[in-house]
Amino acid sequence: MGKLLVVGSINMDIVSTVSQFPLPGETIASVRTDFFPGGKGANQAVAAARAGADCGMIGAVGDDSFAAALLAALQQDGIATEQILRKPGSSGFAIITVNEEGENHIVLTAGANGQLTAEDAAAGAGNGADVFAVLLQNEIPWDTNFAVMSSAHSSGARVFYNPAPARAFPDHVFPLLHTLIMNETEAAVITGLAVNDEHSAKASAEWALDKGVEEVIITLGAKGCFYLNKQGQAAAVSAFKVKPVDTTAAGDTFFGAYAAASADGLSAEDALTFAAAAAALAVTKQGAQASIPNKADIEAFLQRQREK
Ligand code: AMP
Repeated sequence: MGKLLVVGSINMDIVSTVSQFPLPGETIASVRTDFFPGGKGANQAVAAARAGADCGMIGAVGDDSFAAALLAALQQDGIATEQILRKPGSSGFAIITVNEEGENHIVLTAGANGQLTAEDAAAGAGNGADVFAVLLQNEIPWDTNFAVMSSAHSSGARVFYNPAPARAFPDHVFPLLHTLIMNETEAAVITGLAVNDEHSAKASAEWALDKGVEEVIITLGAKGCFYLNKQGQAAAVSAFKVKPVDTTAAGDTFFGAYAAASADGLSAEDALTFAAAAAALAVTKQGAQASIPNKADIEAFLQRQREK
């Protein structure tokens, strides 16, 4: 099995449950407050590692009290953290309030994630001759992402990119990407085409393939996902029917599990089915990293589905 390397964000999510959101100028008491390790990069690394991948991470934490907990959370899942740097100042964190209706307000502070430079990251990503794929998102500076894409591409590693939060990027980036994975919102921002079903996902995927990507995956929430590659191989994989409890990190789980299955040599269609099972399990549980399943749970779920 090839190694995976995630270059991306590491955050502490501070989640306060409130009976109702405070008005401007108002102070209210929380019902409860929890601290959860998060960040899209870290979530995807956890998803990949639990799905069975040999996974390392490049990123940055601060010199604050969150740093040790954030690193420990990654290490607990067997993720190599030697290339995670310590920067002066705070780690990345999100202040999240959730009301009784389940609506949320999120204020994100990039902290150390915003200080991860191109030099910091490209050094690690470029010397990974044994790295099967590098996974990237949009919660570290763009220059850093671009440097990693360039060095990973020239060292022969595949670049798997999930442009989340959604942000358009220049045309010369597409040929550096092996796998572009987007949800409906991201696909609309990047391709300029509205996406809400298989038909529109295909048009969006064709747009990205024309720009030079090897394969495109568009996830459609409970409607599943659509896959198209440069050779014209297409696949539409339905989502598994589950009772959704919390869809947080469904996309991150899907991406990490897909990368793990690809690194394990599975065909695109089998990897998509494995990823859909992992994401379905994640939506049946509360939380981000807490809801991400391990390989044994994913395989048992797939077995149960086959027996139905
Ligand atoms: P999204 O980021 O919302 O597009 O979701 C990513 C993937 O997670 C989808 O392609 C599905 O495989 C899975 N997923 C998301 N929401 C659900 C749901 N309600 N039920 C089952 N699977 C889901």
